[in-house]
Formats: sequence, structure tokens, C-alpha cells
Amino acid sequence: MELSAGVAPVSLPLMVRNRQPAETADPRVTARLVEWFGRARSYVDAYTPADDTHLPDPDTSLSRTQLLSLAIGFTGCDTAESRDQRTYTLVYSDPDLGKRNFQTICVPYYAPASPLRFERDPDGPGCRIVWKPSGEVLTRPRLHAGIFGASSHYYSRVAPDLAELPTAAIISPYSTCAGGCLGCNRNEVGSFTPPPRDYIARHVATVADDYDRRGWDRAELVSVNITTGCQPDEARELEMMLRLIAEYRRQGFTNAGFFPFTYAIDSRAAMDQLREAGCLGFIGTIECVNDAERVRQWGRHKGAITFEQHLGKYRRARAAGFGIVETDYVLGADSYEEMLRGIDALSAAEVAVVPNIKRNYSLAQLDSNHPDIWEMDARYIADGFAACLATYAHGTIKRRAARYCVDYLHRHGQPQVTLRDLPIRHT
Ligand code: SF4
Repeated sequence: MELSAGVAPVSLPLMVRNRQPAETADPRVTARLVEWFGRARSYVDAYTPADDTHLPDPDTSLSRTQLLSLAIGFTGCDTAESRDQRTYTLVYSDPDLGKRNFQTICVPYYAPASPLRFERDPDGPGCRIVWKPSGEVLTRPRLHAGIFGASSHYYSRVAPDLAELPTAAIISPYSTCAGGCLGCNRNEVGSFTPPPRDYIARHVATVADDYDRRGWDRAELVSVNITTGCQPDEARELEMMLRLIAEYRRQGFTNAGFFPFTYAIDSRAAMDQLREAGCLGFIGTIECVNDAERVRQWGRHKGAITFEQHLGKYRRARAAGFGIVETDYVLGADSYEEMLRGIDALSAAEVAVVPNIKRNYSLAQLDSNHPDIWEMDARYIADGFAACLATYAHGTIKRRAARYCVDYLHRHGQPQVTLRDLPIRHT
């Protein structure tokens, strides 16, 4: 359940809370994370961001603060906050480049052993990440949202003052998933719920009501990421997507371009139907490059799709005429060399590779990371992100949405706003 910073969190159903394992304060975990984060921080302090000021988009290179936020995201944080939320979306500001970026933190089941603590200001969205061994405040981001499961929808682009905008949304109408992935974070925190029969109509009505309540014109919605639980097969996945798009049209969202995030859609015929229905892009879920690791971490359903099969799928998506073809990529599962080789191969297929840093909720997830990210610390993250961000030249949903945001703000009293004023968001 996604909530803006001002709203009190909901309490978890007993059955969900009881399914959460007891937290550990294992000193061996602390020693490992203190050693890793200490090296990562030294790398960040010495890191020289690439100068991208000559480019219109600010998301092509990492600031030092963004790199630090990724190391914090990987490590996980302890906190005094209730465990009803184990994920928070924060907005970090880099003092040198003036860039701001969204990045999540997780409150893992080893939180007491984490050397980092997330603390919220008593009032307002201010917060800080504290280095527990010394009490030093490492950075002072702003809290954007607390997350439990997958909310019905959230607005993925915001104005320079972090006010939500009607132009772009990430939606999740289907509250469960047939994927059965072993490494699934939603499964890890127990957030799946049985969807009501009319979940599509209810979902779109909720979004429509939200637009009306905010006084927003539904025609301003131009970018819709369909990032929801998956159906068991291509036919049912396609049917869900087409019914969803038709209901959005029926409810007056006439200008919406849709971007399905899916592993079940594979055939050219299904892609053609999505194109005809109003999908402007196609998002895949490669997760990692190594086939054996994908099966190990994501299971024999979604995880069994090989790297070559993913490449074939993205080539079909390009041939079907999708202007934007993206895949998400989770840093941490692959060796350093395999990560860079895989990103190159995806870029050669004109795929924009959208990087995520692995959120480790459990010790099993922490241990599932490749030895290279432990040995190379922030360099692994910096080089992986740099390689991914270079593929944005193929076009991304976020960049398309950012241009509509600037246009919207120009039409709503902020003619001075540029792309560089908008907080960076990759996922
Ligand atoms: S497809 Fe995604 S949401 Fe579904 S189980 Fe796999 S990781 Fe979880």
C-alpha cells in the first residue's frame, strides 16, 4: 500500500506479520556489511561523476550521492519505524551537481545487524541515513513514500518541488502473480492478496476518482507502465492487458500510451495486438544475464526464459514497431564481466537496460549476490549503472514521460522548468 509521507501507515494483517521471520542481529552479518560499506564509501568519496551538463537529460551519469544511495539500497537499513513497511522511496539531493534521484531502501530481516539506520524527522518528509558505528549522518534525503505491497497506482513523475504530476503512472491492478519466483520481493514481504473478480474496473475507477479528486484532466495521463502480477500464460496475460487498456479508454484516459511490463507475452501476434490497442513500448524482465542464476533465483517459470530467448523477444518487439523496448536488470546477480557483456548484447538489440540495485530483505537474498559485487563494492555498481545508462540512447519510458512533464509544467505556470530540474527516476 503506497502512501505519501504525510499519511499514517496501515497495519499489516496478522497472518502477513506472523509470516515474517524473526529479525537477526548476527554480528557476523554486521562485520560483513561494515567492511563492505566502508570500502564502498571510500570508492564513492573518490568517484568523479561524468560531466553530462551538455546533454538535455540528467539521467546519463551518476552523481556521488546517487552512487551512495545505491550502496545504501543494497545494504539495507535498521530503523525504529514499525515493520508494517519494509520499503521506503527516498529522494536524495547531490550537493555538487544539484541532481536529485529517487532510490528505495529496504528494512531487511537482518535490520538489527545492518550498520545503517533510517531515521525520520518527527514532522515533515525529512529523514537521514546514519552510520551506526559512529552515529555519523551520511546523507539527508526526503521521504517520498512508504511501500508495503504493490499499490493500485502511483505517479512516477513529480515536479521540482516533488508534487505528483498527472502525466505518468505505474499501475498494478492484479494483486497476485502466477510467476512463483523464488527471489520475489513481494513474496518475501508477503504482499500478494487474492484479486476481486472485477479488479480491472475497480482499479481504473480508483485512478479516475483520484484524478477527479485532484482536479486533474484525465487527458493529461500520457504514460502508463503496467507493472502488475502476471497471468499463468500468454493468452490470459494478453486478455488482461487488452481489457485494462479498453477500460482506461472507456473511462476517458484518451491520450494514455501503455507500456506492458511482462514475461508472459512472447509471440509477435500478441505484440501486434498490444501495439494496435495503444501500447507504445514493451518492457521485459531479464533480471540477470546468467541463465543458471536466473533459474536459481527466479525459479523455473519466469527464470527459465534464457538470455537468448529474451534477446529474441526484444528483437520481435522492435520488429513489431514498438518505439521503446526496455528490460529491467537487477545488479548483483551476475559476475562483473558477464554483466557488462550482457548489457552490450542487449544494447546491440536496441534495448534500453533499466538498472535496479538488488534489495536484500533476507539473508538468503543477501547471500545470493555474486562474489564480484562483494569484492568490487561500489565500482561494480558504478560501472554496471554506467553501462546501463548508456543504453538509454535507445529511448526510455522515463525520458518520454519527462518531456511531457516539462510541457505540462510550462502550461501550468512553471515556464522555466527544464529536464534537469526533474528528480531522476530509473524504475
Ligand atoms: S513475476 Fe515478479 S511479481 Fe511475479 S513472482 Fe516473479 S518477481 Fe514476483
